[in-house]
Formats: sequence, C-alpha cells, structure tokens
Amino acid sequence: MIIALLGNPNAGKTTLFNALTGSNQHVGNFPGVTVEKKEGQIKGAPDFTLVDLPGIYSLSPYTAEEVVTRDFLLDQHPSAVINIVDATNIERNLYLTVQLMELGVPVVVALNMMDEVRANGDSIDVRVLSKGLGLRVVPISASKAEGVDALLEQVRALAEQGDRSKALDLCTGEVHKAIHSVAHIIEDHAQAAGLPMRYAATKVVEGDEPTLAQLQLHEAEKDIIHHIVEDMEKNLGTDREAALADMRYAFIEELCFKAVHRSGHSKEQERSERIDRVLTHKVWAIPIFLAVMVAVFVLTFGVIGAALSDWFSMGIDGLTGLLDQGLTALHINQAIHSLLIEGVCAGVGSVLSFLPTIVVLFFFLSILEDSGYMARVAFVMDKLLRKIGLSGRSFVPMLIGFGCSVPAVMATRTLASERDRRMTILLIPFMSCSAKLPIYSLITAAFFPRHAGLVMSGLYVLGILCGILYGLLLKKLFFKGKPVPFVMELPAYRFPSPKTVLLHCWEKAKDFLVKAFTIIFMASIVIWILQSFDLRLMMVSNSADSMLADIGRLLAPVFAPLGFGDWISATALVTGLTAKEAVVSTLAVLVSGGDVAALPSILASLYTPLEGLAFVCFTLLYMPCVATMAAVRREVGAGRALVYMLTQTAVAWVVGCLVFQVGSLLL
Ligand code: GDP
Ligand code: MG
Repeated sequence: MIIALLGNPNAGKTTLFNALTGSNQHVGNFPGVTVEKKEGQIKGAPDFTLVDLPGIYSLSPYTAEEVVTRDFLLDQHPSAVINIVDATNIERNLYLTVQLMELGVPVVVALNMMDEVRANGDSIDVRVLSKGLGLRVVPISASKAEGVDALLEQVRALAEQGDRSKALDLCTGEVHKAIHSVAHIIEDHAQAAGLPMRYAATKVVEGDEPTLAQLQLHEAEKDIIHHIVEDMEKNLGTDREAALADMRYAFIEELCFKAVHRSGHSKEQERSERIDRVLTHKVWAIPIFLAVMVAVFVLTFGVIGAALSDWFSMGIDGLTGLLDQGLTALHINQAIHSLLIEGVCAGVGSVLSFLPTIVVLFFFLSILEDSGYMARVAFVMDKLLRKIGLSGRSFVPMLIGFGCSVPAVMATRTLASERDRRMTILLIPFMSCSAKLPIYSLITAAFFPRHAGLVMSGLYVLGILCGILYGLLLKKLFFKGKPVPFVMELPAYRFPSPKTVLLHCWEKAKDFLVKAFTIIFMASIVIWILQSFDLRLMMVSNSADSMLADIGRLLAPVFAPLGFGDWISATALVTGLTAKEAVVSTLAVLVSGGDVAALPSILASLYTPLEGLAFVCFTLLYMPCVATMAAVRREVGAGRALVYMLTQTAVAWVVGCLVFQVGSLLL
C-alpha cells in the first residue's frame, strides 16, 4: 500500500519521513530542500510504502514540483495521504489541506510542531478541527517522535477502510452556485478523464489550464461555463482565482477561530522578529552575511580545520611510513611496493587529509542553515538576484551548489519557469563546490600559508563575481524577460538541533570517504601506471619519460599563457574531470611520490605563487566533474549541456590568463 506524505515546505515532512522509516534523509530549515520524491518502508509496517513528496503550498501547478505532486495523487491513487501541517502556521498550511479535500483523496492530517504550539502557550482543539475538516487529525511532534504511533494507527485504519473523505461542502454563496452549475455540465467529461467531479468543477471555475485540457470540453460547453464564471466574477467583484482563494481562506478562518486558541503574540515570533530587524536590515543585511561567511572560512581554514587537517595528514604519513617499512622488510616486489606507496597511499592519503576541513566547514554551514538564517539570506538576496534576472528562489539551488553541484542542479526543479531554471543551472558551477576545497587548501598551504582564510574566501568571492558578470551577460543576450515573483515564508529561528547538524556532517564525511576509496583510489592507480611506464610499456625511472608525460605535453601548450604550461598540471586538470579531488591526488602521485606532508613545500619549489594563483582560479571555474555534467544533461539536454561546459571552460581560461598576465605585469 502506498502512503503519500504531503505538506508545505518546511512543515517537517522529511523529519516525519525519517521518524516513520528510520532513514536519514536531509533535513533543512529552509524551503525547497526535498526535490525528488523519496520512498521508504515504514518501520513495523512493512506493507506500507511511504513516499515523501516535494513541499508545495497549493495544488495549482505553477512549479514543476506542484505538477509532480498533483500527478502523483491523481494517477497513483495512494491508499492514504498524510498531510503534514505546521501547527504554528496553521492557517496557511490548511490551504493545501482544503485543496486535498476538494480532490477527495483519503487524508489524515498530521498536526506537526505541537511542541512549539505548547511552548507558546497556545492550544488547538483537535476534535473541533477534525470535525470541521471531516478528516482524521493527529497531533504530533515529528522531531520528538511524539504521536507518531497514533498517526500510524489512523493511517492504517483509513487505508484499510478505503474510504474517501466525506465530500464536505466548504463552498458558499456565489462560488457555490458556480461550482454546482459547472459540475452538471462537466460530469461526463470528468468521468471520462478519471477526475473527481467536485475537484474538476472547482478547477474549471478557477480556470486551471491542465484540467481544462484534460476534460476536452466542447465549444458550446465552454461558452456556458464562461458565462457562469463571468457572472460569478461580476457578482463578487473579484477574478476567478481570487474568488476561490477567498472562499478557501474564509472557510479556514472560521474553522481556526473555533479550533485554535492563541495566548497572544508568541514568544518565538517576537524573538524572530527582533533578530530579523538586525539580520535582514536594509543596509546591514549583506555586510553581515559577508562577515558571517568570512568568519566561517577563517575559522575553518585558518584555525580549526587547518590544525585538524595537519594532525590528520601526520597520521596518514605515519601509517604510510609503517606500511613502507613493512613492505621493505618483507622484500615485496619493487613495482608493487611503488604502486602501494607512491600510487595508492599518495593519492588517497592526500585527499583524505582534507576530510577534517570539509567536515568543519559543513558543521558551520549546517548550523547556519538549521537555525533559519540561510532562509533570510535567500530573502535578502532576492533583490540582488533580480539585478541579474533571477529571483531569490534561485538562491537555494545556488547555495546547495557550494556543497555539490549535482543536487544543486536537481534542486532547480523547484523553479517555476524554464527561463529561471536554465539560467540558474548555468550559474551553479560558479558556486565553488566542496570537492574543490582540497585543491584550494593545497595551493594556499603551498603558496599563501599565512593568508589561507583570506585567499580561500577570495576564491569563493571570485567565483561569485564571475557568476554575476556571466549572469548579467546572459540576461542581456539570451534570457530576456522577467524572473517569476518570489514568495517565501521565513521559518522561525530555531536553536540548531545537534542531531541534524551531526547527521549533516556525517553525510558529507561519508560522501567524501566513499569518493576517496572509489574514484580517487582508481584514479591514483591509473595515474601511477601511466606515470611508471612509457609508450613501449617499459618501466621508467623518471616519470618525465612516461606516457603520462607524453599525453600531458600534448595539452600543456594550451595552459602556457596561464603560466603553468607543463605536463604535470595539465594531467592533474584532466583527471580532475572524474572528480575534483583527483587534481590533488594526481599532484600527490606525480610530485611527492607518497610523502603527503611534504607536498606543499615541493609544489612551492616547482611553481611561483602567481602560477599557483592562476592555477586555482582556473580550477575554480573550469568544466565541472562528470557527475555534474550528467546531471546538467538530464535537465537541459545534451546539446545545451555541451555548450554550457565549453563556455564555462572558456571563461575559466580567460580569467586564469588575466590573473597570470596582469599579475606578471604588476609584480
Ligand atoms: P520539510 O521541508 O517539510 O521536509 O521539513 P523538514 O523535515 O526539513 O523540517 C523543517 C524544520 O522543522 C527542521 O529544522 C526540523 O528540525 C524542524 N521540525 C520538524 N518537526 C518538528 C517538530 O515537531 N517540532 C519542532 N520544534 N521542530 C520540528
Ligand atoms: Mg524535506
């Protein structure tokens, strides 16, 4: 039996999903985190499959997610729908509930965040609410796993009974007249299209295009409906969409008046408003955001993460040394010895040593996210993003892009227009992903050890600036027109939950470890083989004679104007296409042959700081890894994806060239 989980963004769907299934999905305190639908088996009820649908505010399909959700409900006929309602925002959340009632699907309302309602001194009369809606209502607190068993019981009862919600007539007056008149006309068509009649009639009165297309009405019928709707609009003095929205809200207001008892202004709201007066201040909001980010970077790279990474790489070196001695003592074959020490340990070890930095960065970022601050930033960024032709909605995918471009590209599905989507996808790669961090850390450690935090923030800012310029250019040339208006609710500030934050860090660490022991492991072996043999498959003593050097030399001239036109950096950049961390592991294999701790100082002796800088600027901007390319191709098609990648690499080349050439002139 399929149970669908549905609710507004940020109502706690994913938290409830995790509580019910025992899985560890990403929980975030800003709207737009769940993009694809996820499935899981309910704990202790193996016959139930729970589907976590994207968060939506209404069933009128304005965005791709709303379409996905509506189609799912209409086509898959779930045995029950759990409609999760944020009880601290009950009026707005019930808007979706009312639409589910119109749709006539079997619904259980999970009244979430009851712990906060209680803490605010408010109360909700669940029985009155349940009677008013004609639905089962269960108060829960998903994050505390309270009421989850009772919810499951109600879901089971509903699913087994197989009843639909008793078609409660919530409409009144003019709208009521219109809906019932339309219902008579479209009855046969609705049946033929497999749509619930009341729902279809409501949608026709609302003027919902997809429903109208599905119903395939005759011209004469359309004419009559047109008159009915015109009459209604004239009598009410509003347009059709507003008329229906007004009717739904009137119903909700009356119901909440009876069922919800508020003790006055909630403490939480007051606190949030007080904080917001500072953090979303007209002038200070952006400087504060920049200051917060710089502080995070300095802490991560200059203080905590750097120290941890140093210890970590010392540990790795120690282990490598032990293995080295062991292999020597056992007189293992020289080639195998070299493969293990100079190939695998060097490659995987060099990447692993950055694990602590990445975990620390994500620790800070998830605190910012879970506290609700990031949602404010999206709100503040709306004005800026509008200047380059995007809306604040695009901020969420871009923010995810700082972690990894793959989910970021997928998150663009929350955007309402194709135009906004394409443009956002084009800009996401400018948000430097976390896989590039090891590269920056290595280069700053080699060339700018005393200004690590600063150079690092500088790189991120450079990426963003290039993105802005690119966005302006795109807006002028290809993406005329306007972004869709942006509405987003601001969640209340919450103390970040340690569990969520730790989970977040663990997820990042896991991704990183998996990558290190799969892609990077393989890449290190391949690089070692290519650098140990020449084209006649004879083992070489100097890797400059190897076939890898020959391949690298073919590409190297392209990078000569950027200052690093040698075969080693060219090969590192190419292997970086498998995963960006591979740039570091390749350098480790080729340059230091196993000695991870010595890598920065050797690099510093091979290249000048300016060459290093041009190199990181190029890696910041050039073509993303294969996983991202595949994600982009899925979203925009192969042709467009190819154009996106090539232009991006061209931008990277130009910027790298500028950095090196201008730098050479100045220094
Ligand atoms: P989704 O967007 O609907 O998937 O919502 P999430 O599951 O990501 O939750 C949004 C935020 O609400 C997170 O910060 C959760 O920790 C928080 N949250 C979820 N359920 C509860 C609850 O019952 N009580 C409280 N106080 N917070 C909750
Ligand atoms: Mg979610």
